[in-house]
Amino acid sequence: MPTTLDTTNPATVAYIVAAALFILSLSGLGNPKSSRRGNMMGIAGMVIALLATAMQKEFTGYGMLAGALIPATIIGAVLANRVKMTEMPQLVAMLHSFVGAAAVLVGFATLLDPNRTIIGTELVIHNIEIYIGVCIGAVTFTGSIIAFAKLHGVIGGKPLTLPGRHLLNIGLLVATIWLAVLFVQAVNAEEISRALWLLGIASVVTGVLGVHMVMAIGGADMPVVVSMLNSYSGWAAAAAGFMLSNDLLIITVALVGSSGAILSYIMCKGMNRSFISVILGGFGAAEGTAVAVEGEHTEIDIAATVELMCNAKSIVIVPGYGMAVAQAQHTLSEITKEFEAIGTTVHFAIHPIAGRLPGHMNVLLAEAKVSYDIVLEMDEINPNLPETDLVLVIGANDIVNPSALDDPGSPIAGMPVLEVWKAKDVIVMKRSMASGYAGIGNPLFFKSNTRMLFGDAKKNVDAILTAYRSR
Ligand code: NDP
Repeated sequence: MPTTLDTTNPATVAYIVAAALFILSLSGLGNPKSSRRGNMMGIAGMVIALLATAMQKEFTGYGMLAGALIPATIIGAVLANRVKMTEMPQLVAMLHSFVGAAAVLVGFATLLDPNRTIIGTELVIHNIEIYIGVCIGAVTFTGSIIAFAKLHGVIGGKPLTLPGRHLLNIGLLVATIWLAVLFVQAVNAEEISRALWLLGIASVVTGVLGVHMVMAIGGADMPVVVSMLNSYSGWAAAAAGFMLSNDLLIITVALVGSSGAILSYIMCKGMNRSFISVILGGFGAAEGTAVAVEGEHTEIDIAATVELMCNAKSIVIVPGYGMAVAQAQHTLSEITKEFEAIGTTVHFAIHPIAGRLPGHMNVLLAEAKVSYDIVLEMDEINPNLPETDLVLVIGANDIVNPSALDDPGSPIAGMPVLEVWKAKDVIVMKRSMASGYAGIGNPLFFKSNTRMLFGDAKKNVDAILTAYRSR
């Protein structure tokens, strides 16, 4: 594999092309209009990278490569085809755990490499790379498994707040640093079996840290965890790239690590959370008790909903996780076209953490061919809500919860939300009075200008379209 920038080597040139394609891919993925092109560029870059690696003169392990690649491709294709859009975050978390596990295994394999020729300072740096790769890999592996279990509902969303949890985290960090010193000393003294033991203990310690960090994070902060683990998986694989002296791996996963970090920052900003407080497991989160949410709600039926929609000059649609589950986006797109045709102004309002995946709603609306021009971000739409006649909240809950602004004891206190209650009328479509992902009550449902339209979102929007067309 090319380790230095030798542009006479075709593999180096192929690696540079692949790296450029990955960068172009990321820039394409930043916008729904160019995301398809971005995806294709990423695929092309990966194919070039794979071919260039496999065609190296010194590469002989074709049997092993095929043995790993063929079943992995089949399993990946089958899983990706089967997984529902709403289960994507779990899949992503699971894939992050694989990257973490790979970094740990590469670390152990590199330590045991009998062909190692480096000595002196280079050896110390190499050992530190191994240690860092294994530790970040272990945090990513266990943290991602817990994130998977939380997102899949195997473990509840409630944060685990052990007494002295911050001290526990600090203790685990100090132990990791101390083990690092012992590990480097052991490898320098050629005591490989002792070094192996120390690396094993460090993997367990950092694995426990990963479990504890993600267990301590509450349901509402999970979007940050998903993007944070995405970033960690990038840094873990970057360390593996250094261990294997593979420039392309380093470039590619540094892109993953930094874009994951930027995404975490954007999610934190969207939720008004400090990144440090989230990764330290609810450090500084609201410690008070949330105000009990109770009251009388008012129901509405399909006919009255259509009546309100026909009388409205402006409608804002707020999609959430329930719209994704029900797959109501295509009918919503039809409804939008019908009402635009009679002169109603229709906008979609997107909260940065709506659904279960960054950009979840944008993807679904793009799939349903909703025009990008009428899809507005939270900051753009909030100032217009007081002048809006009607808001349709479709399978959304936490992202329209006024307690975030009114109740300092709420677990989502301080999180910016779509202030839909400021509109003239609000209709909330969901199946029951149940809470959303954060597991908290929503006073919006009891406001005097809110009506509840119960039932599956798809069935309800289909009924609305049929009722409107037969008027
Ligand atoms: P919520 O989970 O707050 O609410 C979704 C609502 O949809 C539920 O209250 C549910 O109520 C309703 N619903 C479910 N199925 C249907 C259906 N078939 N038809 C109609 N309604 C349905 O979702 P939001 O999008 O408002 O908020 C996102 C939440 O997810 C936030 O708490 C966020 O922190 C979290 N999260 C977000 C991630 C991201 O990256 N975006 C990742 C991980 C977590 P009912 O059961 O009564 O129908």
